[in-house]
Amino acid sequence: MSSARVIDGKAVAAQVRADIAKKVEALKSAHGFTPGLAVVLVGEDPASQVYVRNKGQQTKEVGMNSIEHKLPAETSEADLLALVENLNNDDSINGILVQLPLPKHINSEKVLNTINPDKDVDGFHPTNVGRLWVGEPALAPCTPTGSVILAKSVQENLTGMNAVIIGRSNIVGKPMAALLLRENCTVTVAHSRTKDIASVVKGADLVIAAVGIAEFVKGDWIKPGAIVIDVGINRVEVPGGKAKLKGDVDYAAAAEVAGAITPVPGGVGPMTIACLLKNTLQAAQMQRGLEITA
Ligand code: NAD
Repeated sequence: MSSARVIDGKAVAAQVRADIAKKVEALKSAHGFTPGLAVVLVGEDPASQVYVRNKGQQTKEVGMNSIEHKLPAETSEADLLALVENLNNDDSINGILVQLPLPKHINSEKVLNTINPDKDVDGFHPTNVGRLWVGEPALAPCTPTGSVILAKSVQENLTGMNAVIIGRSNIVGKPMAALLLRENCTVTVAHSRTKDIASVVKGADLVIAAVGIAEFVKGDWIKPGAIVIDVGINRVEVPGGKAKLKGDVDYAAAAEVAGAITPVPGGVGPMTIACLLKNTLQAAQMQRGLEITA
């Protein structure tokens, strides 16, 4: 029997979006402008098309302008860079997101590094990475930002918690470490070369799993009462059935021990777009020299 509180990512994401919608409305009435988010999709990757559609819908729902640029798979790197430059110079665009993965003939790093850091709502530009680590106002990557909001929905003050992050990617693990340091956690980043990972996780009051391996974190690794945030999204084939989404944590076993846990799906997933919208509002406020309320 599960004893952990289930953290409802859909509900928390809806609250974040409602809060953004109010602030967008306030911006419009006080300053007469509407933040705009440009999303660039190159090619026809089916998963990317779904993400871009969802992003566009939710952007409009919070009252912002959504601008989509859908380019054919054979678009040259030079043409994509020129589009990014145009968006950098367009005052009606406050946030730019280039959907990954890009086709192989395009250097993703070059494209992401061309985005004006002040409009980099994915938070991947080295300037934003640096700003985040030195504690300047920064656009931080969306998935880690959403994960921290979920942890804080259980316990508002994370100060002094032992946080163990499993995974050290630039998209999730590393920025998560910076964000949790900002929350005054004692942070450990475990990864593929960590020795005896079970005992490292056993010391954690807060576990963040971002490994990309289904059910990697076992129930008996979890300290009783810990908060468990499962970032993983793994498609697992079920014999004779449709593929199922599984997290990086053995949910059923961990829920017996944890104090609170995010499900997959319905945990971290819905937070990512909500935090993209939060970043777009923050970017708009920063660009106009307004107080950041996002
Ligand atoms: P990644 O593959 O870039 O990084 C995985 C990390 O896990 C690496 O740093 C690696 O060191 C670590 N790792 C791999 N094998 C390990 C092992 N045996 N022991 C310990 N550590 C190990 O992945 P990522 O982009 O950080 O994504 C991680 C997971 O989060 C994936 O399942 C991905 O689908 C999911 N994800 C979800 C969202 C979301 O919106 N919810 C967003 C991004 C990623």
